[in-house]
Amino acid sequence: MKKLVIANWKMNPQTVDEARRLVASLEHRMHVVAEHTEVVVCAPFVYIPAFSHYIHQVKLGAQNVSWQDAGPLTGEISPLQLKEWKVDYVILGHSERRLYLGETDSMVNAKIISALKHRITPIVCLGGEENAKKDDMKTLVTEQFRKVVKGLDKKDLEKIVFVYEPVWAISTMKKSQPATGEHAYELIAHIYSLLEKKLGKMARNMRVLYGGTVNQENVHEYAQFPQIDGALVGAASLDPDNFWQVVSEFNRESIHRI
Ligand code: PEP
Repeated sequence: MKKLVIANWKMNPQTVDEARRLVASLEHRMHVVAEHTEVVVCAPFVYIPAFSHYIHQVKLGAQNVSWQDAGPLTGEISPLQLKEWKVDYVILGHSERRLYLGETDSMVNAKIISALKHRITPIVCLGGEENAKKDDMKTLVTEQFRKVVKGLDKKDLEKIVFVYEPVWAISTMKKSQPATGEHAYELIAHIYSLLEKKLGKMARNMRVLYGGTVNQENVHEYAQFPQIDGALVGAASLDPDNFWQVVSEFNRESIHRI
């Protein structure tokens, strides 16, 4: 299965021209890695129409979706609106939305169901809540997992991409500290075991990524583990060369293991 590297631009960049330049510089390089690695850019909604028709190899993602197709939900975005602009992925359950916007596990669950209904792949972050301690991560991740996948059948569950993204590892958090490769590996193995309990061997067809301050300097720490299927990248994704190093490293590891 291909590696998967996802850019989470958050509320950046500041202009559509910068957004176009960023995405164009990735699209031009994609032919080098496309056989083994998939790249997704999760951009702010307003930029998506600016490049949805000229990117071919880079896939498009959003950073939110509503649990409803239409209706009086000020500020939300419908899965149908995303589909119209060729959005294939959506980040859900990100700790910033939990922390600053009050998103709960049951909202995340409803959004996952809504995305799946419209064939948008949910990229679901599991990483605990504010003040989560390193030692508690397995318990916290297990609880979040149970709540966000509630009611999903096997076929739907299998379509989700999970990300182990500990809240304390996100680069913008106070006292942020990236996870060690071993810790990321251990928790990703744990997420696989939760998936296996529900799906059996089908779990092996899924991808589980790591997120939290991944950049060109530390990517090898994660990419060296074949069980880590890729990364969700925030700050470093705004620098195309830095981000490309992350993509290249996962790509190299993937070729290395063939
Ligand atoms: C994120 O917030 O999803 C993220 C991975 O951010 P950063 O890489 O900046 O820690």
